[in-house]
Amino acid sequence: MVKNIGINGYGTIGKRVADAVSAQDDMKIVGVTKRSPDYEAKSAVEKGYDLYISVPEREAEFEEAGIEVAGTADELFEKLDLVVDCTPGGVGAANKTDIYEKIGLKAIFEGGEDHDAIGSSFNAEANYASNIGKDYVRVVSCNTTGLCRTLKPVKDIAGIKNVRAVMVRRGADPNDVKRGPINAIVPTTEVPSHHGPDVQTIIDDINVMTMALIVPTTLMHTHNIMVELEDDSITTDDVLDAFQKAYRVLPVKKSLNLGSTAQIMEYAKDLGRSRGDMYEIPVWEESVNVENGELFYMQAVHQESDVVPENVDAIRAMLELEDDAEKSILKTNKAMGIL
Ligand code: NAD
Repeated sequence: MVKNIGINGYGTIGKRVADAVSAQDDMKIVGVTKRSPDYEAKSAVEKGYDLYISVPEREAEFEEAGIEVAGTADELFEKLDLVVDCTPGGVGAANKTDIYEKIGLKAIFEGGEDHDAIGSSFNAEANYASNIGKDYVRVVSCNTTGLCRTLKPVKDIAGIKNVRAVMVRRGADPNDVKRGPINAIVPTTEVPSHHGPDVQTIIDDINVMTMALIVPTTLMHTHNIMVELEDDSITTDDVLDAFQKAYRVLPVKKSLNLGSTAQIMEYAKDLGRSRGDMYEIPVWEESVNVENGELFYMQAVHQESDVVPENVDAIRAMLELEDDAEKSILKTNKAMGIL
């Protein structure tokens, strides 16, 4: 039976998850919620989604803006098998205790929530099986998803003694006019940055230290990663082969004029991707190098979309629609046109 899914918080991540769920044949979107009558609310209705409002007192504002409302968020929750909570960081954890636990509704949360507040974290290739049947699961952040996507296959073929990674983070999402920097590099002076410990919520036996800085760009993050391997017979070609075989990693060549985040995002548009999204983690092939038992590589992360297919797989695991990670990943990938 097709499962009824709702999105609470139809923003950058929520609208993408809504479309990804709609592309599957074993789940459907029953409705999405918004707090404010803005362009995202308007486009949700124009795309055919039923729109429910999180703040019932604001119904008149939606009417005034000419945006049709199907009901309140509470009314939507009653119709669902599972809600994907894509509200801003911190709101989801409050919704878990204040709403979902009280009405017995399964919920997925996003990377802005703390692992401890939700209890379980998810990455399809790394720990699908441990989330089967769970009621509350957090799909880890865009950066953590990117690190897990490439570290897992490296760990599988070579074993990992330890990882050092430097994350170069985008200042804001492209539609965000309030954040920056516009003209500065801002080091994250908290060392290690939160990304390393976050990877350990997925791959618990990995030794990983991360540092981060924020730069004036909106397109993507990039990661510079150094991995001391347990197996020192592993070659650069072995690692490239493992990245090629991973389901959501995309080796790209600088020599094909894909040597920057700008060109990668243009490539995603050329592929005809919805919103120009790049769900895969591109790894620059020329940067992959094994020297004296240490692996070096560089990758990019499209922060607005890499977590989207993970949400679809998390739904399948939690609702026990599929107990085989590989089958779920392949089904999601096919429906979303992932390379
Ligand atoms: P966003 O601000 O684009 O969207 C959030 C949506 O939630 C908006 O539509 C807002 O109106 C709505 N909202 C706000 N408060 C609400 C409430 N109390 N109840 C219901 N709806 C409410 O945020 P986003 O970037 O989509 O982030 C959502 C989550 O995804 C966060 O946990 C974030 O950390 C995570 N995430 C974001 C990115 C990214 O780069 N944007 C990447 C990965 C994960």
